Amino acid sequence: MDQLAHGENSPAKILYRSIQNNRVHSAYLLTGSGDLPWMTALGFARALVCERSDGSVCDACNACHRSRATDADAGVAAAEIILDGKGKRGPTYRHIGDHPDLFWVERGPDDTRISILQARDLQNALRLGANEGGRSVAVIAGAEWMTNNAQNALLRLLEEPPPQTTLVLAASRASAIIATIRSRSVRVRFPADSDAGLRASDALESVAQIVDTLDHLGSQSVGDLLDFAEQYRGGRAVAAESVTELIDVSAQWLCEEVKELVAEGEEPATQALDAHHSLQQLRRDLISRNANPQMVAERLLLGLRDVVAAGAIRSARVA
Ligand SMILES: [Zn+2]
Repeated sequence: MDQLAHGENSPAKILYRSIQNNRVHSAYLLTGSGDLPWMTALGFARALVCERSDGSVCDACNACHRSRATDADAGVAAAEIILDGKGKRGPTYRHIGDHPDLFWVERGPDDTRISILQARDLQNALRLGANEGGRSVAVIAGAEWMTNNAQNALLRLLEEPPPQTTLVLAASRASAIIATIRSRSVRVRFPADSDAGLRASDALESVAQIVDTLDHLGSQSVGDLLDFAEQYRGGRAVAAESVTELIDVSAQWLCEEVKELVAEGEEPATQALDAHHSLQQLRRDLISRNANPQMVAERLLLGLRDVVAAGAIRSARVA
């Protein structure tokens, strides 16, 4: 069950669910080390244009045939076209397979960065709209290599995204991406190689459920959260123990969110720090004042939702 619960919340599943639920955003930022964010971005881009649009790559439809790497066994984006940031020895971007609406940008082998020319060319290509009448998707792999100018050029695209266009940035770390792009992107984090914290694969199912709820606070209605808090009704001893877990996990979650902001060079907002005090107060209410566990859960979830709504922490992994 733990495996399953974790699998359901894996970054790839979160992305594919956004297709299934028809809630695709205009920008995603996938962060994590190694090849996984790139590979996931590639699969997501292909799934976004698959004619079945059930969140996966069917590999049977016309779009899937076109988006397949020409080198069928390579399993990665067609690598035969070498990019050049100056656009001289090669193009500044290429297509995924030969799909006209899927674009791939990365740092050219002879370049130190992803250039502003690459960002501008991509922008122009995307502004033309999709050839096949569906969605246009661009992946920027190794987005941490974009120059500041390239990022600012991209920002203009994000400020007025052409309809039916999705940009997927895959970066080793979020801190390399300017804050104005980060704030416009749905964040999808891959567990780090070590210190996965609350998102460790061996986390208890109950913990994984709480983390998932907290990660999606920004898109939950008051009703959703009250429904979630329903599970803390019933016999007080058991309910109080479960709410203690909710408080513990929430405190750790808040702490990790704030730490990440600080690591990215941002000042944590006072609301985030106040929220930490509120959690301690709820814990005291529960223990010494015999507060009703379900009401404690409600106050906790609605309080954190306000903190997220105020922009004090992002918590915008996927709607
Ligand atoms: Zn397909």
